[in-house]
Amino acid sequence: MSRVLIVGAGLTGSLCACLLRREMPNKVKIVVWDKSRGAGGRMSTSRCPDSAECTADLGAQYISATPYYGQIHQSFYEELLAHNVLKPLVANVEGMMKKEEGLRDFVTPKGVSSIVKHYLRESGAEVLFEHHVTHIHQKGAGWEVHWRGGVAEQFDAVVLTMPVPQILQLQGVVSSCEYTPLHNTVSLALSTSHPILHTV
Ligand SMILES: Cc1cc2nc3c(=O)[nH]c(=O)nc-3n(C[C@H](O)[C@H](O)[C@H](O)COP(=O)(O)OP(=O)(O)OC[C@H]3O[C@@H](n4cnc5c(N)ncnc54)[C@H](O)[C@@H]3O)c2cc1C
Repeated sequence: MSRVLIVGAGLTGSLCACLLRREMPNKVKIVVWDKSRGAGGRMSTSRCPDSAECTADLGAQYISATPYYGQIHQSFYEELLAHNVLKPLVANVEGMMKKEEGLRDFVTPKGVSSIVKHYLRESGAEVLFEHHVTHIHQKGAGWEVHWRGGVAEQFDAVVLTMPVPQILQLQGVVSSCEYTPLHNTVSLALSTSHPILHTV
């Protein structure tokens, strides 16, 4: 079975893992590495040490669906609403900017990182934290990925989902790869045997 490494356990990495699992149910072993101690990235949620119920979102705090994206991503919103990950924002927020007509806002009752955790769960991926990727080298038909303080591992494909400045800090093959703009981030897929990853 092919092994795919997704670097980054933020929204992009978790959704990528989930969609890859749904697209190729029994064909790939998906592994997610993140340098942090938990899932979320810029959608992280901090918990009070005395009460897990007491949370604070440190990055994104609510999700807004424009009429256009609300429609084309309808199945994503329906899934998250059905799992109680999202709930419509009904309260008035003081000082909130006037919004586009038809825009819908959602909040996350269990913290914004619950969106990321939902997709990681759905992906069935092996998720490893405190794995800070430093180098990627081509090795035969695959990729050898080095992480700080650990033993390098081989993968058939690697998907990088971190912000561009962090991608550019990587050593090895990254400097010679082509970047594909994807919404507000840039993702880079390294694959010799899975063309599907080139479009991620
Ligand atoms: C303060 C703030 C408020 C925001 N508010 C909103 C909002 O209200 N609504 C909204 O929709 N969006 C909001 N956003 C934007 C939203 O948070 C981001 O667009 C989204 O979380 C980006 O997800 P990502 O997975 O692409 O990147 P990230 O969340 O950055 O994930 C990248 C992951 O890669 C990991 N990583 C990086 N380098 C390495 C490495 N070398 N090895 C291993 N792992 C690595 C990082 O630890 C991180 O977990 C906000 C962002 C911020 C910062």
